[in-house]
Amino acid sequence: MKHHLNYIAGTWVPASQGGCTPVTNPATGEVIGHVPDSTVDDAHRAITAARAAFGPFRDLLALERADLLWALHGQIQRHAKDLAALVTEEQGKPLDEAKAEIGMSAAYVRWYAEEARRIAGEGIASAWRGRHLMTLRQPVGVVAAITPWNFPSSMLARKIAPALAAGCTVIAKPAPQTPFSGLAWGALCDAAGLPPGVVNILTGDGATLGGALMAHEDVRKITFTGSTAVGKILIAQSAATVKKLSMELGGNAPFIVFDDADLESAVAGAIAAKFRNAGQTCVCANRIYVQDGIHDAFLSRFVAAVQALRLGPGTAPGVEIGPLIDRAAVEKVAACVQDARAHGATVLTGGAALDRPGHFFAPTVLSDVTDTMLCARHEIFGPVAPVMRFATEAEVVARANDVRAGLAGYVYTRDLGRAFRMSQALDCGIVGVNEGVVTTEVAPFGGVKESGSGREGGREGVEDYLETKYVCIGGLGA
Ligand code: ADP
Repeated sequence: MKHHLNYIAGTWVPASQGGCTPVTNPATGEVIGHVPDSTVDDAHRAITAARAAFGPFRDLLALERADLLWALHGQIQRHAKDLAALVTEEQGKPLDEAKAEIGMSAAYVRWYAEEARRIAGEGIASAWRGRHLMTLRQPVGVVAAITPWNFPSSMLARKIAPALAAGCTVIAKPAPQTPFSGLAWGALCDAAGLPPGVVNILTGDGATLGGALMAHEDVRKITFTGSTAVGKILIAQSAATVKKLSMELGGNAPFIVFDDADLESAVAGAIAAKFRNAGQTCVCANRIYVQDGIHDAFLSRFVAAVQALRLGPGTAPGVEIGPLIDRAAVEKVAACVQDARAHGATVLTGGAALDRPGHFFAPTVLSDVTDTMLCARHEIFGPVAPVMRFATEAEVVARANDVRAGLAGYVYTRDLGRAFRMSQALDCGIVGVNEGVVTTEVAPFGGVKESGSGREGGREGVEDYLETKYVCIGGLGA
């Protein structure tokens, strides 16, 4: 499953200038292979291939595309073990989490294999006698998918699977830190029997390849998961050719624990929502707000649970926290902790990078945090949990919503009325009530405000890849 070449038009090819870049294992710092440093020419080759494949692929029966997705699902299951090992090797997450990620990749492909046959337009009650009005649902065309390193396999599944269900063809550019899990999709699509050019994968520099994909008029849609900063660049670039956009950008999730919460489950939920993937998910709890009456009890149990987390290379048995993706990530997280300390926060556990090979940062809990500290204003993307107090529901809603991001939010309460009020009041696209991990292929995932637009998963996930065409047929008689 470890491929070192681009997959374009159904063949494995090197970068046109022959360049390649190393990929490292974040748990050891060792180089684990090289991948093509693709050029603008390579991007154009991929676009040509995807354009050529589009017509015939669009014209397949929905059932035929569903069958191809089922075959792809079968390939993922068949190679699940190797794919998970690849994720851990290049991304660092514990092997059990990597297996769960591959399970999610298979689940998305399965869901959209099922959905592929249920894409349908509608007949509209006519505004005129003698005319029939209807809508057709048609694929948008060639789609470019740019993905991050935190879920190097399942982020592509969320994009490739609905795109194929709709009848689109795809050019995927995985993150430079985790290209092998991206290139593996080439092998999977090949083995599943997808026609050449339907899915193309190329690796290389984001700005170079992103720029080429964005500038080309044959690319009709861009689907991106990554930082808000890069998302804004892509939104601006899309204007020149008026591309459709799906943007899954950064989050800054509030995790709110009310006095009436079940303490055990709130602590367990906070651990899961904060420390999964070492805190490197866009739905990670970023600001933990705890009501006055339960604050001290929550904090002491939470710190004990954090201290019990087992840290190490993702391949070691029982490990729950792996390394961060690279040195820059460690430095960014350290700067967050440093800023909090300088402004009066207390480090209750952790607080520093570990002096060992690889990019490890100790799981950290901060108390006495305020809303103006860096760790509360920005997405931490690391194993640092800032805990803050609050007094009333109205106060915590105002504070939770006073950020520019709006992806996920979590609420722990046993009051049903409050659960509903909070679900409505939080400015975000996803709410977990008494649950710390809520992502599933059957429900729509996406954000509001600067967290982006569009939804992945659920019935909504395929909508982003479809155009609605209105057809008026006249001359039918009275
Ligand atoms: P992170 O900071 O988490 O690495 P990024 O948003 O920088 O997140 O990266 C997500 C994806 O966007 C990666 O595949 C990366 O190569 C790509 N990327 C980075 N810069 C650009 C850009 N200017 N245009 C298009 N894609 C980019």
